Amino acid sequence: MPYSALCLDLDDTLWPVAPAIVSAEKLTAAFLAREFPAVVPVGQVPAITIAEMRRWREQVAGLHAGRAYDLTWLRTEALRCQALAAGLGEAAATAMAAAAFEVFFAERHAVEPYAEVPAALERLATRFPLYVLSNGNADPARTSLGKHFRAAFSARGLGVAKPDPRAFQAVAESAGIPVGRWLYVGDDPHADVVGARSAGMATAWVHRHEKQWPAGLERADHEFADLGEMMDWLMAADELQRRSP
Ligand SMILES: [Mg+2]
Repeated sequence: MPYSALCLDLDDTLWPVAPAIVSAEKLTAAFLAREFPAVVPVGQVPAITIAEMRRWREQVAGLHAGRAYDLTWLRTEALRCQALAAGLGEAAATAMAAAAFEVFFAERHAVEPYAEVPAALERLATRFPLYVLSNGNADPARTSLGKHFRAAFSARGLGVAKPDPRAFQAVAESAGIPVGRWLYVGDDPHADVVGARSAGMATAWVHRHEKQWPAGLERADHEFADLGEMMDWLMAADELQRRSP
């Protein structure tokens, strides 16, 4: 067993992210319509719809490509710009964005882990220190899975996003475990597998729903259909090594 620690991606590796984001956007839009009716002029098409929120979110992300690692800032800024465009003053727009982001952020953590994930993490944590590195802004401590992790790192906190090798190297350095001793686990061929490999970590690609590997890209060191399959393999390999002289 060449691994001393595991580092895992969050979104679409431990839970499906789309349902949480859609639900968070709906609640945010409802909150804004209720608490900031000035942004939704009577008799007009509401300025705060999910489609409008997404349009602003994409526009702001396009204007600030250099802050792609900070999804919290991008979403708050999009809400602020949307409020300004709807006629709110600077202070009111900033207040609205902050309040709306809190609604979004709380619901963004109402994630439903994939069925096998809680038991797999519980078992893996008995043998490996588990860490998180995510480009998203979810904090695993705010989910039911937080207890399994030694520490969680985000692109926002590090100031650099996957696949940049510096993100992975920062995790290894912080944990005091050399990059060559890690297995990085994620669903994204580029951000997770190419990124972790370029940093010197071994890689595991979790390919749920029969996802296809991109043609022409060097494959991950390991491929698993889900975390249960990975856990079975890692624990068996570990056991084998312990028994061998
Ligand atoms: Mg992912």
